[in-house]
Amino acid sequence: MTEAWRPDDDEPRGASGPVRVRVPAKVNLHLGVGPLRRDGYHELNTVYHAISIYDELTARRGDTLTLTMEGEGTGELALDDSNLAIRAAHALAGYAGVMPHARLHLRKQIPLAGGLAGGSADAAAALVACDALWGTGLSRDELAGIAADLGSDVPFLIYGGTALGTGRGEAVSPVLARPTSWHWVLAFADGGLSTPQAYRELDRLRETGSAGAPLGSTDGLLAALRQRDPRVLAATLGNDLQDAALAMRPSLAATLKAGEAAGALAGVVSGSGPTCVFLTADAADAERVAAELEAAGVCRQARTAHGPVHGARVT
Ligand code: ATP
Repeated sequence: MTEAWRPDDDEPRGASGPVRVRVPAKVNLHLGVGPLRRDGYHELNTVYHAISIYDELTARRGDTLTLTMEGEGTGELALDDSNLAIRAAHALAGYAGVMPHARLHLRKQIPLAGGLAGGSADAAAALVACDALWGTGLSRDELAGIAADLGSDVPFLIYGGTALGTGRGEAVSPVLARPTSWHWVLAFADGGLSTPQAYRELDRLRETGSAGAPLGSTDGLLAALRQRDPRVLAATLGNDLQDAALAMRPSLAATLKAGEAAGALAGVVSGSGPTCVFLTADAADAERVAAELEAAGVCRQARTAHGPVHGARVT
């Protein structure tokens, strides 16, 4: 009988082949922005929702830490230590006490600075991918703990689904709802909007009394999620940053109007914009609305999506 092969202590842990992770974009079904805190963040009361538009990050063994990319934002996005995927890999390596060695490659479909948390998604993907590559074996909760220091939206993208976000958005708890798939249309815009600038614009609008009334509690939206009627959900979608995004990019008003004219049940700006997100009655309506938005020339591209979907996962 031959003896079974066993790895010895010198054998590297983790995956020897490439690890591929898919991570979704997020939209905020409710984005309630509270007062500015002393640490410079606003207190948020938000409902995150992960949708089926994905970035994909592949991690391979390497002698240093490198990042390459293709897709949305190629040529514009820095691939150095400022990139959130690289920052995430360093953060995990520091936490787990391993060398941050990996060759990362990003295939990006989530537009840059689009209000869909693409950068946060890539950070979440890098945490999950490097954890598998290096065999550090952290739980999702541990990864979410590291994620919170990388950005407010990063913990949510570790979990995905639909979740309540409080604090500056980093404290997430899942929303328990009956399994329902909602059908969305995303209208991508030309160019991005800066999230910090959108918050500053909201503060300015509030100071001058020209912002709309704050959304307040998420109760209405959470109750709507428990029903399965998209019309009920449509009536409760809201975003306190929308006025700011519209002030910074007035053309978004025409995009929102065109989506609703095309038969969407409701349209809102996603996060800090400029992406607009529309809820539709079903998948067929979503296709129709997307086609009409593109034909009307009110966006760079319109894509259909469904949600909720999982957070960052090895495929
Ligand atoms: P949010 O909805 O969380 O406010 P966003 O979708 O508006 O974010 P992101 O695409 O996440 O915007 O990126 C915001 C900024 O983060 C970019 O302009 C870029 O400078 C920086 N960034 C760093 N790493 C990445 C990355 N991997 N992908 C996208 N942006 C990144």
